[in-house]
Amino acid sequence: MRSDPGRGPAPPAAGYEAPGSCVLESYGPVPPDTVVSIDGPAGSGKSTTARALAERLGLLYVDSGAMYRALTWAAADAGVDPADEPGLLSLLDAAELTLKSSRGETEVFWGGRDISAAVRTPEVEARVSAVSAHAAVRERMVARQRALGRRQGVVMEGRDIGTVVFPLASAKIYLDATLEARAERRLRQHRRRGLSVDRGEVLREVEARDRRDSERAASPLRIPPDAMVIDNSTLTLDDQLEATEAAVRRLLAYRLPPTGHLEGELSLRYRIAFAVFGSVGRFTGLRVVGREHANLHGCILAPNHVSSWDPLILGAALAGKNHIRSIAKEELFRLPPSALLYRFLYAIPIKRNIYDTAAFDQAAQVLSEGQNLLFFPEGMRRVYGEPGPVRNGLGLIMQRTGAPCVPIYLRGTLSPQPGGGPRAPLEVSFAPAIRLHALPVLGRRLEPRAISREIGRLFEAIYRELQERSADRHPFTDWELEARERVRAGILRKESRTFHNRRPL
Ligand code: C5P
Repeated sequence: MRSDPGRGPAPPAAGYEAPGSCVLESYGPVPPDTVVSIDGPAGSGKSTTARALAERLGLLYVDSGAMYRALTWAAADAGVDPADEPGLLSLLDAAELTLKSSRGETEVFWGGRDISAAVRTPEVEARVSAVSAHAAVRERMVARQRALGRRQGVVMEGRDIGTVVFPLASAKIYLDATLEARAERRLRQHRRRGLSVDRGEVLREVEARDRRDSERAASPLRIPPDAMVIDNSTLTLDDQLEATEAAVRRLLAYRLPPTGHLEGELSLRYRIAFAVFGSVGRFTGLRVVGREHANLHGCILAPNHVSSWDPLILGAALAGKNHIRSIAKEELFRLPPSALLYRFLYAIPIKRNIYDTAAFDQAAQVLSEGQNLLFFPEGMRRVYGEPGPVRNGLGLIMQRTGAPCVPIYLRGTLSPQPGGGPRAPLEVSFAPAIRLHALPVLGRRLEPRAISREIGRLFEAIYRELQERSADRHPFTDWELEARERVRAGILRKESRTFHNRRPL
């Protein structure tokens, strides 16, 4: 098997649909650690879809909304105001919340008491957005949700599953429908439960809840830029399910690491550089995780930025499979030794205090030629182990070129030591490439800059996730924790110096 020399991964293994094809040929099982996120507004059909999909794929189904509903019910029951954050937290700590996935709606138990019917009433629906808006409440719920996804494969539905809970989910779906279609479904649900409600009232309630869920500061409802968006306003349930499963399988196929060799000869300069980088890697005891995800042509490689050693250590981790042109601040082209290295590898200089059109044009050209582009999306070196805000440049270049982007987490490059050393593990971990499946829909709703912001948020969440996974493999050393504190203040000062007075992208 080999990679497509143009762009994208090698053909997927048997049992998966090839990306781009609309023919679904085989309905095989999916890997047992598959995590599928299904987000969307109220009444978009998430629960029905997620439950049926989980059954078809043999995964656990989790209704994250039921968790927020349960807390809302408990608060009302105990007389705790939805605005009282400490009160909500102590309720959450005191009782055991259990969800049971059954054929019908999720069964919900609070301290052993069955509250399944109580959490679906209009009273709970009217208050749940206020309860779920608290950042501290969300933090605890998210920790529980992540723990479920770590133990086994899961289909989880909610509002922030693809953006916050599982930013590296194997497949992300965003379900949507018109406000009228969603209100109609809610109305039918309430009536089935024997509740008498007014159509206009339900429509207003759904609209108000959407607004509150989308406008809150903590993890608002957003379309994950890498999700497949399915509008099911006019679909039958069967068609919707079919469409969702097809989309999930297509996304899973994209996520398989390309296994083939890359085409093309490396030029002499690159062979020399990779030989040097490789020996640095061996000398410093470099560990590399998920390297195969970078076996692509025409993709962006996007690491967090820790130190001046980063390009070199990355070169060692990449082991010389492809031409990689990096974008680097123009100051680095002025003096040796950095000037020599960057010029030698045809790096692209960028001015950081303006929107440097020439640099972005050149980067787009490099990607269209099938070369890879190394781009540090934070725009500057950050606190060790603590990735910082991702700037708009990454999103703009992804939108402009449609290139996939491989997020990379660097650890220990602040101070690489011979043989590894006790300070910090030197590790480079690669995540599967991110592709902007939702771009056509996002493009109809948002300006390019706002889309870049969404992409930036997603990458920030991904870096945090990669950081957590790295810490699971090797807990942070004392040296790392101290270094982080030591440089934090300095980095913040530098950030405001570097980017102030800059024309917005
Ligand atoms: O999906 P469902 O309608 O049951 O969600 C109830 C409420 O829970 C939502 O309106 C939202 O305020 C909150 N929620 C959330 N994050 C999630 C799931 C639900 O904030 N992941």
